[in-house]
Amino acid sequence: MKVFEAMAQHNHEEVVFCHDQDAGLRAIIAIHDTTLGPSLGGARMWPYKTEEEALQDVLRLSRGMTYKAAAAGLNLGGGKAVIIGDPQAQKSEMLFRAFGRFVEGLAGRYITAEDVGTEVRDMEWVRMETQWVTGISEALGGSGDPSPVTARGVYHGMKAAVEEAFGSPSLRGKKVAIQGAGHVGYYLAEFLTQEKAKVFISDLRPQKVEKAVLQLGVTAVEPDKIFDVEAEVFAPCALGAIINDETIPRFQFRIIAGGANNQLKDEKRHGKILKEKNLVYAPDYVINAGGLINVANEIEGYNREKALKQAEEIYPILKQIFEIARREDVPTNVASDRLAERRLEQLAKLKRMHLLKTPKHIRGKRYDW
Ligand code: NAD
Repeated sequence: MKVFEAMAQHNHEEVVFCHDQDAGLRAIIAIHDTTLGPSLGGARMWPYKTEEEALQDVLRLSRGMTYKAAAAGLNLGGGKAVIIGDPQAQKSEMLFRAFGRFVEGLAGRYITAEDVGTEVRDMEWVRMETQWVTGISEALGGSGDPSPVTARGVYHGMKAAVEEAFGSPSLRGKKVAIQGAGHVGYYLAEFLTQEKAKVFISDLRPQKVEKAVLQLGVTAVEPDKIFDVEAEVFAPCALGAIINDETIPRFQFRIIAGGANNQLKDEKRHGKILKEKNLVYAPDYVINAGGLINVANEIEGYNREKALKQAEEIYPILKQIFEIARREDVPTNVASDRLAERRLEQLAKLKRMHLLKTPKHIRGKRYDW
């Protein structure tokens, strides 16, 4: 694979290949765009079959982070890291400390966090070598579990989608089908039942559903039947690619608004089909940005109340996206990309003017370079 050609495809700024033979580290850090601020994104550990596969993944994921941060209104750029290896068998203190030293070498241009295959303990090893890490445990002053903040964002995003479809943001009496009663799905169900919505929930693990039924009074649905529920809202909170050619014809929903990543199996085609069917789709990376908002808060000294409040801002952001989609006659997932790209363009212009120091209100103690 030609690395510069791959970087040029989506205009990546920097790619760092990290190698430490003794620690068994082979990792790639990709910084896509730092127009808005330092790049932030998780470190994924995965047994990639080839180096090309790892590089493709880190380029794709880091670019996704640029859009997510830009649409969420954060002063962060897009970055990501992949560590090549089996997370079940190849983790060690030395591996993550070696990775941490490479992150430190980037002097704050890339801030890491946990992702698929990595966890809080791994980030605590990383933190022994660098300050440029988030997703640390609450005991060490970090933000802890991000899912309540993610769920709060999804809940407020859902209100924007309901308003778009029905003219009022109220969820009272609305039927919502949630796929996945895990971290995000459960907290989301809690918010919804508090507002007297009628919630249906499914999970592959029956004990998760039982807990939600017992504690929140929601209705259990078999995993495969969730797509057929006669509800106004579908909230995917499990896996990606569940909006596809098999599931869309079964939908009787008016709205799709949930926390899962990469919900559309084919971004372009399925986004278009949802528009043609007049379904209101809340783009996944916008509505689930609460997790990123949560770790972004950690950089400047974590405050959960502030993070929760900031996650509520997903409501006006989605309203803006629906407005762009209507005005420009495009699917909502295209509209969210446009919103992100416009913010990047506008801020790039604004930053042409040289300032001796970063403005005070965005100067956290660690941004103060
Ligand atoms: P989780 O693992 O706690 O919950 C996912 C649940 O989905 C599990 O209980 C699992 O059994 C269930 N599940 C898997 N396949 C299913 C299926 N086919 N039908 C029904 N249930 C199924 O994960 P989570 O933290 O709640 O995250 C849920 C989704 O949201 C993921 O896609 C994740 O990437 C995304 N997300 C999470 C956060 C966060 O803060 N946790 C932030 C952004 C995005």
